[in-house]
Amino acid sequence: MTDHVYALSINGKIVSSERTANALNPATEAVICTFPLASRQHLEDAVAGAKNAFPAWSAAPVQERQARVRELGELIEQQSDRFIKLLVTEQGKSRAAAEWEISGAIHWLREIAKQALPEEVSERAEGTVVTRHTALGVIGAITPWNFPLLLAIWKVAPALVAGNTVVLKPSPYTPLCTLLFGELAQAVLAPGVLNILSGENELGEWMTQHQDIAKISFTGSTATGRRVMQSASVNLKRLTLELGGNDPAIVLPDVDPKAVAKDLFWAAFANSGQFCVACKRLYIHESIYDELAAELVAYAKTVKLGSGLEAGVELGPLQNKMQFDKVCQLLEETRKEGFAFLAGGQPLPGTGYFIPVTFVDNPADDSKSVVEEAFGPVLPLLKYRDIEDVIRRANDTCYGLAASVWGKDIELAQSIARRLEVGTVWINQIHTFSPDVPFGGHKQSGLGIENSLHGLAEYTNLQTTFFKAMP
Ligand code: NAD
Repeated sequence: MTDHVYALSINGKIVSSERTANALNPATEAVICTFPLASRQHLEDAVAGAKNAFPAWSAAPVQERQARVRELGELIEQQSDRFIKLLVTEQGKSRAAAEWEISGAIHWLREIAKQALPEEVSERAEGTVVTRHTALGVIGAITPWNFPLLLAIWKVAPALVAGNTVVLKPSPYTPLCTLLFGELAQAVLAPGVLNILSGENELGEWMTQHQDIAKISFTGSTATGRRVMQSASVNLKRLTLELGGNDPAIVLPDVDPKAVAKDLFWAAFANSGQFCVACKRLYIHESIYDELAAELVAYAKTVKLGSGLEAGVELGPLQNKMQFDKVCQLLEETRKEGFAFLAGGQPLPGTGYFIPVTFVDNPADDSKSVVEEAFGPVLPLLKYRDIEDVIRRANDTCYGLAASVWGKDIELAQSIARRLEVGTVWINQIHTFSPDVPFGGHKQSGLGIENSLHGLAEYTNLQTTFFKAMP
């Protein structure tokens, strides 16, 4: 696996770069291999290739584009074991989590390849009106390091089906699966249709400023999303921004703590908490707080933390040193604020960016662990008494990505769900997604939608034609 020389995909060619960086395994801090850092000229070549490829690709029948996108899924499927191992090595997640991501990528390519946006025609006294979706041009896609391949596919599949060409930049922390995908994709796509460039953050900035990129589809932090929005204004780029979250989960008093502890644990700690829609604030009714907290701590003891390549490991390290340091600092500040940990609270000594599952015992609403998105395995457990009050507290954030409500009284759960200021609410489940269900953030968790025909439409403009016969 590490013998492979990872390269850029530009205008149908596999291209190296004079500048390279090291890709690290976060479980061992060992260098996996080097990868190329794209230059400004590489970006110019990729955008020019994508621009040249656009007329033919956008004019092709949608069925042809769907067929190519389906084939991209087959390419990953044929080498799924290679992708899974590579993802575990570069991202740090467990093998089961990597299987989930890779099978998700295949599923999304297959399902988005069934989508299309038909023309709307209406006959009126004054003539005929036809409204159709037209492709935008070159899409700049920018992705984070937590689900590197799946989130890339969430952008590439609809962008291509809608008739656009793409320049995609993975995170410099996890470029390998995306570069491999780009290389394989050249076998089924015409030159320039899909270009993959790895590089540092500055490459993302160059993309957002580029005059020949029509839209940026970005997934990452809210802070970077704001910068993307600012520089995308140079040519009024279209934008889809999938940003950070601080998702609340509300546990109603009728819940059996034993029955729900495992689901709530994974709601918070899947992918070691590095999940935009992880439960990041767990509001527990005071009548069951102690019992549920004890169940969560007991379950945490059964979960093995380690390198995803080891058998039985369910939780991996933080993906990179920057995030590890950020979470360590959050633990330090929580301790200084005077709040107690029911489990965890200290990074593991030795190599690898390991932080054990950490529960903070009922911190104040303005404590850092409640206000900030930890993006790591740290969960504040918060007591509440009154439903009105917990809804207010859940909504008291600039974020609005997702939330969950847990309880036997479905009507009450639904009435709470309707009042939560978020894009997705799960009731008695969490983290279900589908290619045909819209996903997007409210408030400062984002702009626009991914998935479903709403998501597909975001890769298009609407064009309306009015016509009538000559008299
Ligand atoms: P990040 O914002 O640091 O980086 C994301 C991407 O943007 C990377 O590819 C990075 O190189 C690039 N980038 C950095 N600076 C840039 C700039 N000025 N202009 C353009 N691109 C730039 O985010 P991250 O640390 O990689 O990911 C973690 C964040 O992503 C968390 O806040 C998480 O909640 C969020 N996230 C959101 C979703 C969602 O769907 N809403 C999904 C996954 C992650």
